[in-house]
This record gives sequence, structure tokens and C-alpha cells, in this order.
Amino acid sequence: MAELSPALKQATPVLAARGEGIYLYDEQDRRYLDFTAGIGVTSTGHCHPRVVEAAQRQVGTLIHGQYTTVMHRPLLELTERLGEVLPTGLDRLFYVNSGSEAVEAAVRLARQATGRQNIVALQGGFHGRTMGAGALTSSGTKVRAGIGPMMPGVVFTPFPEPYRHRCSEAEAVRFALAEFDQLLVTVSAPRDTAAIIVEPVLGEGGYLPAPPEFLTGLRERADRHGILLIVDEVQTGVGRTGRFWGHDHAGLRPDILITAKGLASGFPISAIAAPEQLMSQAWPGSQGGTYGGNAVAAAAAIATLDVVRDEKLVENAAEQGQRLRDGLRGVAAQHPVIGDVRGLGLMLANEFTAPDGTPDAATAARAHAAAAERGLLLLTCGPHGNVVRMIPPLIVSADQVDEAVGLWGEAV
Ligand code: PLP
Repeated sequence: MAELSPALKQATPVLAARGEGIYLYDEQDRRYLDFTAGIGVTSTGHCHPRVVEAAQRQVGTLIHGQYTTVMHRPLLELTERLGEVLPTGLDRLFYVNSGSEAVEAAVRLARQATGRQNIVALQGGFHGRTMGAGALTSSGTKVRAGIGPMMPGVVFTPFPEPYRHRCSEAEAVRFALAEFDQLLVTVSAPRDTAAIIVEPVLGEGGYLPAPPEFLTGLRERADRHGILLIVDEVQTGVGRTGRFWGHDHAGLRPDILITAKGLASGFPISAIAAPEQLMSQAWPGSQGGTYGGNAVAAAAAIATLDVVRDEKLVENAAEQGQRLRDGLRGVAAQHPVIGDVRGLGLMLANEFTAPDGTPDAATAARAHAAAAERGLLLLTCGPHGNVVRMIPPLIVSADQVDEAVGLWGEAV
């Protein structure tokens, strides 16, 4: 008899039978408040009726039309719709299925367009698990352990970490930008550097928002040296941070933007967006895959964008994010083991720190498990596993935020 791989068997104690809105139900019909959203994917909640209806309609019309062979209406319409929300000028789109594939597509494009090889990534960043995206990933060791050599030509530079270094945000930014400047002198000269890739909020690395001055500092250096700025919005995009894109907080324009996760409420589709003069440098046939830009996923993405607009979910993420952050800060004030509460919008972290200042992963794990016992599903992250993060669907209401904060307080 076949069984799941041990990694999958150990991963979770919850056997999800159905999902509705912010809730998941197991086979005994026990209800869970889902503050994981399938790792930031079910942006409109589980099985939003408009997403379900759009996908069902598309399943009965055209499930798959491979985009290098035939084009289909859902992908054309999705492109138009994304054009309404993408930064000005990033008006050429290419589609694949997952965050990792889109990251690799962005890297391929950057190398082809510049003729340079190196990609600079941030220490603690996460860009996926494929051999290329995994090479750019440095949060934790699990992604790369035992499988090297990874894609060559990747160099790392520090991300500003004021909490870890016990310094001000301005000092952390100054340090990180100075290190980047130094890297361009000693490790990867601009003539060898195709791109720098950055998450607006370091995701798996511990939910550390990039200070706006850091992102504008990178933009300025990228312009000065002809290096492309790739912004990985896989986790931060489509309203998650309380603005439509995470980099909107810094008010800059990326050269290449990557979106996935929340784009289609659970259907696998991802995209890269870039200006025409850049996208036209991609060598024909070098990008894509059989299932890329699937018609059902595209229809679900259009419905998702409709729901995000009509239900004002970006605004809701900002409002409920603030409420959740205030509630979490209240819990942390009573429990000094939570040394830092941070994040942007509905992407919030509770960092557990022992009295001697070291990361306290054991207490974080116990609080995480105690929350699940109380029906609140959460995730951990961070290089030491001592960060419990909350990333609920963007439809979360004030009452549900309050309920979650109450359960979290009990769990801690
Ligand atoms: N980039 C970021 C910022 C992510 O958070 C993730 C996944 O968590 C990825 C890329 C990889 O996406 P996927 O798991 O869909 O390949």
C-alpha cells in the first residue's frame, strides 16, 4: 500500500475536509480559524463563491490550452486586469505556475537582457526550492542541505535587521547598503551583476519589512550601475501588506515584478511583469512550461482580482492588520518571551526571545502547537524557527481578528 512521504506525514496533524471563508473544517467537522491561508495563498478566503463560480464555469468551457500553441481568453483578460494594478510601464506579462518558476523566469530574463551572470540575493531571503530559486534562498538550511551544487552566480548581501542587531532602523539600513556597495567592489562588479532580487517583506526569513529607505537605496544603486531590480512579490503581492504591492510602501518602480500565491485564491498561477523593452530580450522558447497560464487558474485569478477590488480587501488588510498588530502587541506586553511584534498589513510576526537574548524556538513551537489545539492555525518561520507568523485571508473581519488574538493570548 502506498503512503505519503515521511515529510508529508509529519507536516500537519489536521486533515482538512473543507474550507469556507476564514475557516477550515476537519473530517470530524472541527472548525479551525485559518491564519495560514495555505501560506498566503487563499487571499479571498477558502472557496469564495465568486472564485468557485468562475473556476467551475471555466472548467466546463476550456480547461487547458497550451499558450505557445493556442491563446485563450482568460489569460488575455487576466493580462488586461493586471495591467490596471501593476506599476506603470510594467506592462508585459509572462505566466508560469508557481512562485519558484516565476523567480527562475525573472532570473533567466535578467541574465538574457543584461548579458551578465551574477544575481545578488538578500541574506535570509526565500525565493523557492527549485535548483535556481533555491540557490537564491538563504533562510534556513533545509532548502539547500545535501542537494548542491546549486545554480552558480549567486551572491548574498545583508538585509537590514534592526531587532536582531539591537540598532535603529536607520542604522540597519546604512549598514546593509554599505555592505551592498562593498560587495559591488569586492565580490561582484557591476559589469558582472545582472540583478538584485528582494522581497518587500522578508517572508520565510522572519517577516521583516524592508525599510522604504533600503528599497529606494537599492533602486538608486541599480540605476547607477545598470543592474536590474527584481521585486519578489510572491508573498507580499495582491493586497497582503495593506497596499496592492509590498513595494508600494517605498514608492519605487521595479524592473521585474514577480507575483503568485494570493493571485488566484489557491489555483496555481504566477507571473512576471516587466517593461516591453526588457521582456522582448527574452530569447524565444527559453521561458514557460506545459501548464503555464492555465485557463482555469487564470479565470480564478480574474475573479480574485474582482473580489479584491469589490470587497476592498487591500483596505481591509491595512485596517485589520493594524487591529491584529495592536492585539498581538497587547499579548506581547504580558509575555516578555515575545520580544518583537512586526510586519506589514496582514503579514505579522511574533518573535520569541529568551531572557538572554537568544532565539527561543522551543517556546515558539509550544505556543504554535497550543494555538492549533485551540483551533487557531498558524505558521512558524525565521532562520531559527522562533517566529510565529500570522497571515490570514484578506477577508478577515474585526471579530475574527479579536477571536484569534484571544486564542493566541491563551496559547502563549
Ligand atoms: N518567493 C517568495 C517570496 C515566497 O514566499 C515563496 C514561497 O513561499 C516563493 C518565492 C516560492 O513559491 P512557490 O512555493 O510557489 O514555488
